Amino acid sequence: MSTTVTWCESCEADVPDSEITDEGACPQCGALLRDERRPVPWHFKLMIVASVIYLGYRAYQGVGWLVHHV
Ligand SMILES: [Zn+2]
Repeated sequence: MSTTVTWCESCEADVPDSEITDEGACPQCGALLRDERRPVPWHFKLMIVASVIYLGYRAYQGVGWLVHHV
């Protein structure tokens, strides 16, 4: 649970993170306080994990190729 606050220019008041809407807007006036409040999408994380596994596999293949060709 975060305790940080974001300043709202329209309300001239601090808005606690817990009160900011899912869209990153002020609950009082609706002004956008945060552009990116959404967490990283799961499929993006999955893509990174897949890339790491794939690159690791290719590196492993590369080492195997070197062992047999050097
Ligand atoms: Zn506001």
